[in-house]
Amino acid sequence: MSSSPHDGEQTRFTPPEDALTKALFDVKSANPGLGISKVHAQVLKNHPEWLVSEKRTKKILQNHGLIVASSPSSNDAEQPIYPSSRMIEGLDLFQWTSKVQVKYFDKKKGKGLVATEDINEKDVIWREDPFIIAPEWEIFDMQVAATACGYCTTPLTPDSPLIIPCPASSSSSYCPARFCNRLCAARSSKVHPLLCPSQNPASAPLIKFAKDTQWMALHALAQLTSRILLVNQYSDSQADWEVVRGLAELGMEDRFKYSFKSPNQPEPDRPTWKKAFELYSQAFKEPKTPQDQKKLTRILKKPLPAAIERGLFDYELGFLRNLGKMSLNLEAHGGLYTLHSHLNHSCDPNVSVRHLDQRTALSRITVIAKRPIKRGEELFITYVNPKLGHRARLDELRGWGFGACICSRCVEEALMVNQAPAVNDELDDLADELKAGLGVL
Ligand SMILES: [Zn+2]
Ligand SMILES: [Zn+2]
Ligand SMILES: [Zn+2]
Repeated sequence: MSSSPHDGEQTRFTPPEDALTKALFDVKSANPGLGISKVHAQVLKNHPEWLVSEKRTKKILQNHGLIVASSPSSNDAEQPIYPSSRMIEGLDLFQWTSKVQVKYFDKKKGKGLVATEDINEKDVIWREDPFIIAPEWEIFDMQVAATACGYCTTPLTPDSPLIIPCPASSSSSYCPARFCNRLCAARSSKVHPLLCPSQNPASAPLIKFAKDTQWMALHALAQLTSRILLVNQYSDSQADWEVVRGLAELGMEDRFKYSFKSPNQPEPDRPTWKKAFELYSQAFKEPKTPQDQKKLTRILKKPLPAAIERGLFDYELGFLRNLGKMSLNLEAHGGLYTLHSHLNHSCDPNVSVRHLDQRTALSRITVIAKRPIKRGEELFITYVNPKLGHRARLDELRGWGFGACICSRCVEEALMVNQAPAVNDELDDLADELKAGLGVL
């Protein structure tokens, strides 16, 4: 007998660390999408004489940062971060639609919307006006130039007899705001007075600062604060405050830590936050001059409940936290929509959000089914440009403060990189990698 089944075993040996590491690097860099077990199998295929356990492969891959350890205790800098959200108490969905309901998934994922009935492709699921609106700067400029409605952002028809100017504007203290009609003017009384250069001049530096720094979240927070303070004057602001409390959040510190800096959208830094907070306090609490203080006191007669006061004006627990909430929840055009803010992300969304009422209510959104949606299925929008490749989407999501996306499309595309057929444990490995917040491309 020239060979026995055990001959192979006898000649195999345990390779030294550096040889194994080099082999692992070679395989991983040629096929970055491979999971641990595939890399392991490939190395053994290239070196049939080696005796290596999968555990050892995994350890080396981890030590060299080729794969991130998925155990929670390993290294907190690489832990995935998810925004947290809570249910909005007493929220009446039927004002928008009966086709969806709010579902609380778990602490990590938070809430989302699921269909209560089968929905057809192209069906309008709901229409919604903004809770607050901090419009894109081009539209904001139109509002300041009095060519777009100060409330609903719709471009104004010049010379329309329906247009109403800001009632507080006068030749001595001018406010450029004009509204489509009496309805928009009446609705604007919930937000406008505290941001009106005539009624509350102390807010002007804050708005200017937001504009100069192109800081949409700050602008939105100014709008939100104005709404909460004003609603509190003539009724109860608790219901509005519940909406704010229910918004998904990620602290600014987390966002700062996990943001990838992109050259076209630099994040404001810490001194900028401080400066913004100073202007914010001057706008809504302590104007610098006695004249401005007098004007503010004329609008704000009734103090906020202590919890809401803290929730807005405490630097860490209020201001920074709320900025984070604004960044996370603003719709692309700058509005914050109560029901819309419940939608979770997928890179293969099943609903789209449109501004269809261009001539009557530009800020109103219409949520439409992109494909048939079955009863019980979750509704998803996309937070990123779906035309981007996998890696670019991942980077953008990270910029928003999200961990790696594990939607079906991301998992599929990550697998497609290596053309090998997907095997189950590889898929598991990959899901682990993605969950651990590491891109695999
Ligand atoms: Zn309007
Ligand atoms: Zn005004
Ligand atoms: Zn995805």
